[in-house]
Amino acid sequence: MRKLSIQDLDLSEQRVFLRVDFNVPIKDGQVTDATRIEAALPTIRYAVERHAKVILASHLGRPKGQRRPELSLAPVAEKLSALLGQSVLFMPDCVGDDVKAAVHALNGGEVALLENLRFHPGEEKNDETFSRQLAALAGLYGNDAFATAHRAHASTVGITRFVRQAAAGLLMQRELEYLSRALNPDHPYVLILGGAKVSDKIPVIQNLLTLADTILIGGAMAYTFLKARGQDVGASLVEDDQLDLARRLLAEAQERGVDLELPVDHVIARLEDEAGSAQVVTGDIPAGFAGVDIGPRTVDRYRSRILSARLVVWNGPMGIFERPPFDHGTVAIARAVADCPGTTIIGGGDSVAAVRQAGVADRLTHVSTGGGATLEFLAGVELPGVAALTDKG
Ligand code: AMP
Repeated sequence: MRKLSIQDLDLSEQRVFLRVDFNVPIKDGQVTDATRIEAALPTIRYAVERHAKVILASHLGRPKGQRRPELSLAPVAEKLSALLGQSVLFMPDCVGDDVKAAVHALNGGEVALLENLRFHPGEEKNDETFSRQLAALAGLYGNDAFATAHRAHASTVGITRFVRQAAAGLLMQRELEYLSRALNPDHPYVLILGGAKVSDKIPVIQNLLTLADTILIGGAMAYTFLKARGQDVGASLVEDDQLDLARRLLAEAQERGVDLELPVDHVIARLEDEAGSAQVVTGDIPAGFAGVDIGPRTVDRYRSRILSARLVVWNGPMGIFERPPFDHGTVAIARAVADCPGTTIIGGGDSVAAVRQAGVADRLTHVSTGGGATLEFLAGVELPGVAALTDKG
């Protein structure tokens, strides 16, 4: 990587500001899913073991620049302390004289967590004064919050101008290393795209159309492509304003010799009686019915392509997987990806939830922690939070 890594920094007895992603679900003052906290532990432990004075910072939810007690990171400090097996000093704010004094009093190996960055409007505005206030807490900076690297905020971009060195944390490095393979791929390269909207994934398709050998499309976005090809899609979710673009993408795939596959059969249901009316159809979808999942023949076709890939990248579910039995297609694709002997990379919140639901997350090469950041990376956009890190000398 051309950017400094936390492993390049001399951390001993130094204050390091670590931007992490602790944007976790909290209910009744308890963290209900600690996955994101766990993902940052290797970097935190690395810094603690090297006797750094560790200052952790994150956003939580969307307080829009206001102090909102229900979006306090205090429950996270408690959870982190239990996971780390050492006490975590929780700061009631993220800037100001009191916080500065408290973090300056830290000893090597101690850990502090700042209050929600987004309680201050300067965070999302990437405000210079706020960035300088954050930078006043530490001379060194590490960013492990890959999921927010597509946002130019004070804690991801602004602060980096006012610290001595800004480096990627271990999780950030891992994300960049694996996701880079999607842009410098081994072949055959199979890209699987699903989810609700074509419009969200267009930049990804455009960027990867030159690299992928096969693109397998599922989820609601398949219906926009099928309609663009002249097929009846009944009451399925379609983005009519994307039909022209879908036609162009289909034509471009053909010109480039990319095997762009659309579902050949569908699980369909009447919207007013989803489960009761569910059935499988091949080809056209009758009026009044919506496609809610890919059908079994599609699963077989997609599975055989996935199994012979050397690289699989997957973003977006194949159907309304949150509502079983419409999760069958997504679960079957998750299993196929897990069975693929090549490199397998999953990105995006819903696909990650789906591979967990299928119980195969630990059989994949890389499960990305990013949603929007992963999509932007795959679209070939330079992430501001990565660009802002110090170049390797
Ligand atoms: P995205 O955020 O674009 O990855 O979309 C994920 C959402 O797409 C999930 O909530 C799915 O329920 C939804 N989805 C997938 N397939 C369909 C479908 N055939 N019809 C309606 N929604 C779908």
